Amino acid sequence: MIQSVGYAAQNAETNLAPWNFERRDAGLLDIEIDILFCGVCHTDWHQIKNEWFSGIFPMVPGHEIVGKVSRVGAHVTKFKVGDLAGVGVMVDACRHCDDCHSGQEQFCQISPVQTYNSTGHDGLPTYGGYSTNTVINEDFAHHISEKLNLAAVAPLLCAGITTYSPLRRWKVGKGHKLAVVGLGGLGHMGVKFGLAFGADVTVLSTSEAKREDAKALGAHQFVVIKDADALAAVKGKFDFILDTVAADHDVNLYLPLLRTNGTFITVGMPSAPFQVPSFSLSNGNKTVTGSGAGGLLETQEMLDFCAKHNIVSDIELIDIKDIYPAFERMLKGEVRYRFVIDMKTLAN
Ligand code: NAP
Ligand code: ZN
Repeated sequence: MIQSVGYAAQNAETNLAPWNFERRDAGLLDIEIDILFCGVCHTDWHQIKNEWFSGIFPMVPGHEIVGKVSRVGAHVTKFKVGDLAGVGVMVDACRHCDDCHSGQEQFCQISPVQTYNSTGHDGLPTYGGYSTNTVINEDFAHHISEKLNLAAVAPLLCAGITTYSPLRRWKVGKGHKLAVVGLGGLGHMGVKFGLAFGADVTVLSTSEAKREDAKALGAHQFVVIKDADALAAVKGKFDFILDTVAADHDVNLYLPLLRTNGTFITVGMPSAPFQVPSFSLSNGNKTVTGSGAGGLLETQEMLDFCAKHNIVSDIELIDIKDIYPAFERMLKGEVRYRFVIDMKTLAN
């Protein structure tokens, strides 16, 4: 076993605090990674607070991981010591089911393993990236370009792929009007990818304070949803709406903004179910759909696309000791636009 230090929640009521724990030694096909940066996803909060389901504690969150390979197993071919590597939301899968075969390992039907709050194939709990190191099968780690700001690459491993994947699947691009609901970690990446794919992008936000930021990101329009006139002006305008909101909210505010045959894609995961009257869908042949992260090949494709087009997340780098002020700002919708933990602060 190898020694690791992380920030862990001992249960859903206590705050994250330093915790020493062990991870498995790198097996023949595993790599060990010294973690340099880890993004703070709203999912981390949902899970440490049991907002979705009762979790596995102690819990070390974090699934936007970048670091340097420090050890490789004897049969590893994909990485060598010193390479950069990234880890996203999953660390294992069965590799035999239909979903694994079709490159959607994140939906593995037999034995999916999430990066944390999950049970590995060895029967042990998995621990995430708010920690000094990790061990992972080489196939589930991704190559990271040397040319981008490494800290700003970390959020691509979840916020990036979660917005890239549905926009690609629905072939969102030139000639399409895309609205992104919520300018947070996922939302700002949705804006960047929507623009990179050639769509006309509008941000639908609760925060007037983000108007200038949206403009700086390149969004063509910015609508504050409390402004009834501005909202009425975009009624029936969008081919696609990408909803990235983490808090419970009423989607019926947004469905009328779709044009006929328009598609509402939710990637946000608030705990309360959506209430969608069939009327809002039948009237205009509208589609409501969802999307979860992305598969292994698609994640590497997204990382390569970002390297080619110089796309990274807009980040605020934090000391891990400041994780609670960061969570508080994230919960108030004040993150600009992803907190990333500088993991060397864990050693101080
Ligand atoms: P985040 O950074 O906190 O961003 C969420 C944004 O939603 C806020 O910045 C805010 O933007 C907006 N918002 C907040 N409260 C709202 C409300 N009551 N009504 C309308 N808008 C509101 O969160 P994130 O990390 O991007 O994650 C977003 C959600 O996606 C979370 O639920 C997370 O668990 C989920 N997620 C899903 C997947 C997946 O695979 N599908 C992957 C990762 C994360 P404005 O200020 O602009 O309104
Ligand atoms: Zn995430």
